[in-house]
Amino acid sequence: MMAPAQVVRGVDLLSRVAGAIARLGCRPLVVMGDRTHATVHCQLQPLFNDPALAIAQISYGGECSESSLAQMRQVVATHGADVIVGVGGGKALDAAKLLAYQCDCPVVTIPTSAATCAAWTALSNVYSEQGAFSYDVALPRCPNLLVLDYDLLQTAPQRTLVAGIGDALAKWYEASVSSGHSDRTLIVAAVQQARVLRDLLFQKSIAALQSPGSEVWRDVVDATVLLAGVIGGLGGAQCRTVAAHAVHNGLTHLLQSHGTLHGEKVAYGILVQLRLEEMVQGNQLAATARQQLLKFYEDIGLPQSLTALGLANITLAELQRSAEVACSTHSDIHRLPFEVTPTQLMAAMVSTTAPPSIGRGQEKSSELNSPDALVPTSPRRFTVIDEVQP
Ligand SMILES: [Zn+2]
Repeated sequence: MMAPAQVVRGVDLLSRVAGAIARLGCRPLVVMGDRTHATVHCQLQPLFNDPALAIAQISYGGECSESSLAQMRQVVATHGADVIVGVGGGKALDAAKLLAYQCDCPVVTIPTSAATCAAWTALSNVYSEQGAFSYDVALPRCPNLLVLDYDLLQTAPQRTLVAGIGDALAKWYEASVSSGHSDRTLIVAAVQQARVLRDLLFQKSIAALQSPGSEVWRDVVDATVLLAGVIGGLGGAQCRTVAAHAVHNGLTHLLQSHGTLHGEKVAYGILVQLRLEEMVQGNQLAATARQQLLKFYEDIGLPQSLTALGLANITLAELQRSAEVACSTHSDIHRLPFEVTPTQLMAAMVSTTAPPSIGRGQEKSSELNSPDALVPTSPRRFTVIDEVQP
C-alpha cells in the first residue's frame, strides 16, 4: 500500500526496462492517451520491439471513466494480457491502475509528465465521460513498477510541471488540516514530509523551471512525482484531501474548466481553502499563507483566480453549481474544522486575490504586510489565533 514494489529512475530507461516488465508478465497491455501516443511513440519503440514481450495497446479514451474501463477489460480478455502498462499523465495512469486491479494483473506506471503523483499512489479517480469528477477508488497496493524516465518527462510541456507543483503543495495545506492533530506515527510523518515538500518547492521551483533537465529540475520532478507519492503512502486513507481538492472536483463539473490541468485547479483550490479559513474562522495564519502563495504563484505561473483559470465569464448559476458539488454530503471539504455552505464557498472562490481581511476584532499584525512572512513550521492547527487578542 505504501510504495511501489520497484522504482527505477534515470534517463534512456525505456530501452532497458523490458526485462523488468517481462518479470511481471509477457503479454502487456499498454494503456495510454492518443496525444501521448503521438508524442512518445518513438521512445516506446524499444519496448514494442522487444522479443520477450507480446504487446497490445489501447487508448483509454481521454477519461478514466466506467465505460472506458469496461472497453479496456474486454481488450485485456481478448489479448490475454497478464500485465498492464500505463503510459501518460494522471488520468491514463489512474485508468491503468484501476484496470489492473479489476483484472487482477500487476501494473507498471510510466509517467510522461510531472503533473501529479498518480504514478506512485494506490488511488484512482473516476470521471464521467464528459470529464466531471465522479468518485475515487482506494486500491489495495501501489504499482508493481514505476519507471521515472527524465528524458520522457522533459518532452512534456513546462506547464505540466507547474501544475504538478500546485498539486504537490496541496499536500501540506490539506494534510495539516485533516491530520495535523494526529498522534499516529505514520500520519505525523506524512504531515511533516508534506511540510518538507512544500519548502523544497518554495526553494527550488523557480530555478527548476528556468533550467529543464538540470539537477534542480530533477529535484522538483522527484518532489512532485515521488515525494508527494510517499506522503500519500505514509498518510494513507486518513491523511485525506480537504477543500483544495473539493474545489477542484466542483470545478470539473463546469465544461469551461476542462482547458486547465488538475494541479492548476487544485492550486487555486488551496487559495480558496485558505480564504475560507480566513473568512469563517478569522484565521490570520491562513491570511498570511495566502499572501505568500499568491506571490509564489505569480513567480511560477499558477492561477490565482477564476479569471486566471479561464473562468471569468461563468454565470452565477455555474459558480453556484460548482460550489454545491464541492459542498455535497461526502465531499472532503467537510474535513475543515468548521461548517461550509455553498454561499460561503462562493464568496471565497471570488475573493482569492483579496488583501488579507482582519478577522473578528483582531489587530492586523505588521508581519502580514511583509511579502516574506513565513508560515509557521508546525501544523497550523496547533496555533490558537485567539491567544493574541488583547
Ligand atoms: Zn491532486
